[in-house]
Amino acid sequence: MTPPSRRREARGGVALGRLRRDPWGTATALPGPRRGSRSVEPGGLLACVDVERPQRFPGVRGHVAVQARLARAHLRGRLHHALMFTGPEGVGKATVGRALACALNCAVEPGWGCGKCATCQRFLAGRHPDLQVVEPSGKGRLITAAAAEDVVLRCLHAPYEAAAHVVVLDDAHRLHEAAANKLLKAIEEPRAGVQFVLVTDNLEAMLPTLISRSTVVEFGGLDEADLVAIVDQALADTNAPVDPAQRQLAVQLAGGSAGAAVRVASDRQTEALCRLVAALSAAAEAGPSQIFAGMAAPLWKLWSETVADTPEPGAEPGGAEEPGLVVIRGKAGRKKSARKKKAGKKKATKGKAAAETPAKQRAAAARVSELWLLHLRECLRGRAGVPGAAVPGTRDRLIRQIRGVSEFQSRLRRNPNVRLALEQTLLEMSP
Ligand SMILES: [Zn+2]
Repeated sequence: MTPPSRRREARGGVALGRLRRDPWGTATALPGPRRGSRSVEPGGLLACVDVERPQRFPGVRGHVAVQARLARAHLRGRLHHALMFTGPEGVGKATVGRALACALNCAVEPGWGCGKCATCQRFLAGRHPDLQVVEPSGKGRLITAAAAEDVVLRCLHAPYEAAAHVVVLDDAHRLHEAAANKLLKAIEEPRAGVQFVLVTDNLEAMLPTLISRSTVVEFGGLDEADLVAIVDQALADTNAPVDPAQRQLAVQLAGGSAGAAVRVASDRQTEALCRLVAALSAAAEAGPSQIFAGMAAPLWKLWSETVADTPEPGAEPGGAEEPGLVVIRGKAGRKKSARKKKAGKKKATKGKAAAETPAKQRAAAARVSELWLLHLRECLRGRAGVPGAAVPGTRDRLIRQIRGVSEFQSRLRRNPNVRLALEQTLLEMSP
């Protein structure tokens, strides 16, 4: 029998982009079809599951092939103990990770999870001791060494009640180096019954040592019907009104990301943000004449109005959780509320000028940059994007603008002067 370390090596050496040919050590690890199996071709993996009854993990939409492969690998006892889910942001990778806990432990629908039994219900509600979900935290948005230590300690005695103990590390590319080192050993020498799921939308930023110890599972975008269903559910959950035109725009721009679709569909500022994206893309095409046209220029008037109309982060549900924004909690949270009070006093005396607090500027910048990036990605796919926004003249300019907006989002995380960062970004994009 192959020693465990050799087996891990064989499974870990997955060539990126060729995963369909190396699923779970079955298709490519064997010289030919296994006796008794119906097919080992990529398309044939689904043929091995019960196609009469469409099955899915509880609470998961889309990713039918991924779910089928996971279920099949588990039922055959071939599920690798460390999975790395990679793909676009917001498509439901962590959701599949959490649902996998049901699939591995449900006695009613083994391999899938029924979603209804007591075990499934506890996993779905996040109340089962055999599910650990770790996310980045703190000002630096990192998975800290302390969080990793906690995982390692809990895994020493896991599973507690169920057959499998599932650890989901969300945004695993944000593992602090010390945290990654602590986890490496746990992943390298796993305890029986412990299942790691590392989730990332940035595979390039993952430590190669973690990639090589995992089986990489690629996720694609969700289709329109799934996006519409998820958006409708999210709007219903928050009792938000449904604007059919805004929902349609959100689904069209989201590029398969449910997270992006829900944010655009539920943002009451979406219309204003679209106008701002149109002004920004026009300025990026026109160059310095529009960028430095003074505060009365349409671009900066729109910018000021949008910032003034932006809710103070944390003031409304989900308001602080902007993409690309530093989420401040704990000690820093107290600092923030102190700053808020000060800003409130200023507002009373100075009126509208104080409406532009740095936090509101960053929140507006995070929202508009996400929409701008969605617009540019749509242009890349040959579609129109945000109504009224300019389409960069050439593919090179398009790529340059995408890089520019991504860099702007990175600058935002470093808490700069937002207006200056925006000017710099536009200048760098200029023809
Ligand atoms: Zn169940």
